[in-house]
Amino acid sequence: MNVVIVGAGIMGITFATLAKEIAPDLNITIIERLSGPAKSNSSVFNNAGTGHEANCELNYTPVDEEEIEIEQALHIHAQFNIAKQFWAYLVKKGIIKDAASFIHPTKHCTLVHSDSIDQLKLRFEEMTRHHFFEHMHYSEDHDEIKSWIPFTMENRPKSEKMAATMIETGTDVNFQALTEGMAEHLAQQDGIDIHYNTHVERVHKSPVGRWLIETNQDGKKERFKADALFVAAGGGAFPLLKLSHQPIRTRFAGFPVGGRFLLAPISEEDANQYSAKTYGKAKVGAPPMSVPHLDLRAANGKHYLLFGPFATFMPILEKGRGFMEYLLSMRLHDIPNFLNVAREHFPLMKYLISETFIGKEKMLKDLENFAPGLSKKFDWQISPAGQRVQIIKDGDLQMGTEIIVSDDKSYGTLLGASPGASVSPEVMLRLIEQLLPSILEEASAQEKLREIFPMHNLKKLEKDAKLYRAIRDDINKALKIS
Ligand SMILES: Cc1cc2nc3c(=O)[nH]c(=O)nc-3n(C[C@H](O)[C@H](O)[C@H](O)COP(=O)(O)OP(=O)(O)OC[C@H]3O[C@@H](n4cnc5c(N)ncnc54)[C@H](O)[C@@H]3O)c2cc1C
Repeated sequence: MNVVIVGAGIMGITFATLAKEIAPDLNITIIERLSGPAKSNSSVFNNAGTGHEANCELNYTPVDEEEIEIEQALHIHAQFNIAKQFWAYLVKKGIIKDAASFIHPTKHCTLVHSDSIDQLKLRFEEMTRHHFFEHMHYSEDHDEIKSWIPFTMENRPKSEKMAATMIETGTDVNFQALTEGMAEHLAQQDGIDIHYNTHVERVHKSPVGRWLIETNQDGKKERFKADALFVAAGGGAFPLLKLSHQPIRTRFAGFPVGGRFLLAPISEEDANQYSAKTYGKAKVGAPPMSVPHLDLRAANGKHYLLFGPFATFMPILEKGRGFMEYLLSMRLHDIPNFLNVAREHFPLMKYLISETFIGKEKMLKDLENFAPGLSKKFDWQISPAGQRVQIIKDGDLQMGTEIIVSDDKSYGTLLGASPGASVSPEVMLRLIEQLLPSILEEASAQEKLREIFPMHNLKKLEKDAKLYRAIRDDINKALKIS
């Protein structure tokens, strides 16, 4: 079977790596418009590198009056556990030489002011009842919080009432290094063909039912054929879906949200002092992905602090691509959907447009509110982040990710952007189940699946504390997280 993947970000490369491990005879062609893997959203500073497992993100546990919902947090935590099972397998097999090349233990903290203390306490009490979050700590003590996350507390008066939670075993993940490691391994495999600097202009079905993928490499046009096609092209997936002529195309449109961070290089000593990602509370009217956070990042043996994100309304498909490409990807049938979103989400549009125009001074002021004294301690620069293209489905704006598979199971794509890279192995496993079910039928494939994933049933991880703990401790050891 010939499989073509469009896009060499973490999704496309994870899909290829997992599928090839399960079915070594598979022929896979990967086509990427940039000069290498993980150069768009999966690139190290285009995202925040948080291993999202719901340790610290308040938007995963919505509160209504005194009721808190933790179902989404449980789901994301289980998905991340499955991601770590896959990454631990890669390390144990020597496919990725060293876990420290891409994943680092980094405390995950939530920090709130007095008006949200009750909410945080409720969250802590509800979450620690579950085995997923049994190691979460809570404190309202200034000195204790300072010992966890000094940069956010050391210039704050003791009289300022704050509360925080902390989990030691959170992570910072360099998704670029991880993707590059997998891509390097793939390139050495038989049956894998990778084409960089090659733009996919159009995909469509031939009369005999195979997918035709039309590409352009510096003016040289080529055509590839596929029995199964996975478009893992980030925001670039929208125009390809529109051009594919599938009936489902009319239900989806893209709503782009760009981002910026403040970034500062720091010394190893400072990194040892603040080994954390601290999440706060989103501003009123801000989208969930705009929760402010101050993150320790590690890349290429150096340390950085990242603060943000600051959302921008940037009508482009991907960082580095032009406005006209986004405009030309729209169709007449999208207009009512856009108008509906503009009407129903007017405060969000207003927020995004106002955030687009804030300058460095205002960004540093926000940082000062989050971590007093920090804006002058380091040399902060504005760092443009990646581009999220959220889904507008049937006129509704959605913040999550959606796998779409055609009725004949020959075309798959991934739209949306959250929680994203952190859960990529679990999402790609589900896509393989839908798009390439035949490769899972062999007994050898089932055996391999059990080797890679000791347990990939989300509900089983959620219900079986003993099994979960055994897996968690084993994979954390392999990934040097504990
Ligand atoms: C500001 C920000 C912060 C984030 N923070 C986090 C975080 O902390 N944790 C987390 O887990 N996730 C985070 N994410 C999400 C994460 O970055 C994405 O989920 C992930 O990188 C998506 O991977 P991908 O492979 O789908 O996309 P990409 O990495 O963007 O890869 C898509 C690839 O397709 C290629 N392509 C596109 N069109 C074509 C075409 N026509 N022909 C050929 N190639 C094409 C592109 O060049 C690109 O290389 C964040 C995202 C943003 C924007």
